[in-house]
Amino acid sequence: MPQATDFMDSSAAVCEAVLRLRGSALADELGRIARKLLASPVGLFMRADYAQQDDGGKSAELFPDSLERLGADCAHDGHVYGRYEVSGRPGYERADCQKLAGLATLTASLLQVHSLAQRSTHAFAHVEAQLAHQAQILDQINESVLTTDQAGFITSWNRGAEKLFGYSALEAIGQNVLFLYADEDASFHDAFVEQGGNVMEVRRRKKSGDIFWASMSLAPLQSADDKPIGVIAYLTDITERKLAEERLHHLAYYDALTGLPNRTLLAKLVDQALAVAQRREAAGCVLFIDLNRFKPINDTLGRATGDTLLKQVAQRFRCALRDQDVVARLSSDEFAVALFDIREHFEATTVARKLQAALIEPFLIGGHDLRVGASIGISVYPQDGNDAESLLRLADIAMERAKQGREGDDQSVAFFSSEMNQGMQDRMRLESGLRQALRNGELLLHYQPKFEIGTGRIVGAEALVRWLHPERGLVPPVQFIPLAEATGLIVPLGEWVLESACAQAAEWQRGGLPPFRLAVNVSAREFTPALPERVNSILQRYGLDPAWLELEITESTLMNNIERVITIMDQITALGVSLSLDDFGTGYSSLSYLKRFPIDTLKIDRSFTMGIPGDGNDCAIASTIISIGRQLRHRVIAEGVETAEQLEFLRSAGCDEVQGYLYSKPLGAVAFESALRERWLPNG
Ligand code: C2E
Ligand code: MG
Ligand code: MG
Repeated sequence: MPQATDFMDSSAAVCEAVLRLRGSALADELGRIARKLLASPVGLFMRADYAQQDDGGKSAELFPDSLERLGADCAHDGHVYGRYEVSGRPGYERADCQKLAGLATLTASLLQVHSLAQRSTHAFAHVEAQLAHQAQILDQINESVLTTDQAGFITSWNRGAEKLFGYSALEAIGQNVLFLYADEDASFHDAFVEQGGNVMEVRRRKKSGDIFWASMSLAPLQSADDKPIGVIAYLTDITERKLAEERLHHLAYYDALTGLPNRTLLAKLVDQALAVAQRREAAGCVLFIDLNRFKPINDTLGRATGDTLLKQVAQRFRCALRDQDVVARLSSDEFAVALFDIREHFEATTVARKLQAALIEPFLIGGHDLRVGASIGISVYPQDGNDAESLLRLADIAMERAKQGREGDDQSVAFFSSEMNQGMQDRMRLESGLRQALRNGELLLHYQPKFEIGTGRIVGAEALVRWLHPERGLVPPVQFIPLAEATGLIVPLGEWVLESACAQAAEWQRGGLPPFRLAVNVSAREFTPALPERVNSILQRYGLDPAWLELEITESTLMNNIERVITIMDQITALGVSLSLDDFGTGYSSLSYLKRFPIDTLKIDRSFTMGIPGDGNDCAIASTIISIGRQLRHRVIAEGVETAEQLEFLRSAGCDEVQGYLYSKPLGAVAFESALRERWLPNG
């Protein structure tokens, strides 16, 4: 009779068997263990998957009905793994029954754990295989695919990405995608190509440093439970296509010869700018330019020379203009310029002159000294038209007129509107006349005295320029000072005034007259860092005591760079020359700055004096200026005093000085001197 074994030994044996053996080998071993545990000569383990099958009468043979038999199902969690059966020993007891049941339970649970472990090992291998498979697919496709986490750090990088960017997966994974961006803050440039879509055209940088264009589509990367965990990006290089597009764009919008915008682009730009101008109520204009004498050059010297000439003309035009102005080539020798955001239409004339001036220097081409001029027609927005095509058409008409008007004249410019044309011609006549006036000594100074209200004493005089026009007679400064300021002629004119006033003061000084302040008006454009030195050298030259000189500056001068203005002012007052603020109250002087200016006198503008004493507002303004002057310890003078009532009001308001027709109109030097000696100086 076989020896029974201990349950512990059997358990260890079952563990061992389940771990190591499979299939029928396992069943045989389990049968052996059961036989041994229950000391039975017959015994087996029947696997559940075979239990249903016909075992070929094996069990009937093993277990004849004559023998007592014991069985136990191996089941766990409702799953049946098999069944133990033993027999061949008489007298199985209850304890044997329990033993076999215990063995069955143990076997079932071991088989379950083992099959679970096996299954997950299998699943893992399966997942791994799948991943390898997918990586292979990703690497096979030409597109570059990369994934990032939510913060933009790269989490995967396929072979396509390696090829496109030049970085290996090892170099790229873990970096932030920003390192691929072409421009510093390119994140702002990335824009979706289609609204609401997920395809963008972006610029990226390769490892080599090369910048390229890519089409990029993005898809969200999600975790198993559908939470967003990052982004999948697919990129394709579209540099070729982009370059082709650019070439097409260039062909469509630029002139091949000169590289300037063509008519189509000009019209587009003008229409865009006009839309903006309309909103801001700004003005703009179009200049139509036709080259004079181009055709004969082209015909006689040949096309190549003509082309070179046109290229150089284009270059000179471009250099003569500001960056924001557009210059285009319309056809063979026709160009156009669009000026946006101009304040006055006559600014267009200035630009037209600049363009003509750019052609004065001859062109040296192939040993030839070539000269071309330009006829220019101007149309103005909004007066003449509202769209590019009409503005161009009208400027063209104006150009034809300019050409006919002054045959062969390289300075011919015409506006489309006859009114503007007239205005321009008047200005041009005045401008050339003024240049001549400076050369021919047609300018002279008049002097208007200033008096102290309290004592009635003369304290100074203002020098006022006059133009003695050969035909028009005495021209007042309001008719030419603004033009002189716009054309820059104010600078030589101002120099002449300062020089002449000082020469006159020096003469009066030598003549034994007691010093009074002779005021000279200085316009904003003259108020440069060079002014103090100019004043100083003139004083030296005439041996003039600086106490004789005063400069009247206007508020507009102060609106430029304040610190610079103060420095210049300080340098002037350091010479002993005094400063007064002309036309006070008409500008935008900030009171906080006013106290920083080294100014002696505030001058109440004539427009306020005129309303005194009838106009309450003017009286209030005059009184306020007087009290500001008091606070800041400046003297206050009122100009344009014509009546005794005005004088009375000013006196009671505390004004220090007055100037005006009530006392005297501006007088020529001789008349002024005699009035001075006879009436204004005590003991004359
Ligand atoms: P402003 O400097 O304010 O000169 C005062 C103007 O008022 C002068 O006109 C003067 O003749 C006029 N005026 C003086 N008292 C009376 C009066 O009681 N009634 C009336 N109706 N007018 C009076 P003017 O000489 O025609 O000068 C006009 C402006 O031209 C000046 O205004 C000044 O801004 C400018 N200007 C004159 N000469 C020069 C100069 O040499 N250089 C510069 N840069 N500007 C000058
Ligand atoms: Mg003045
Ligand atoms: Mg004034």
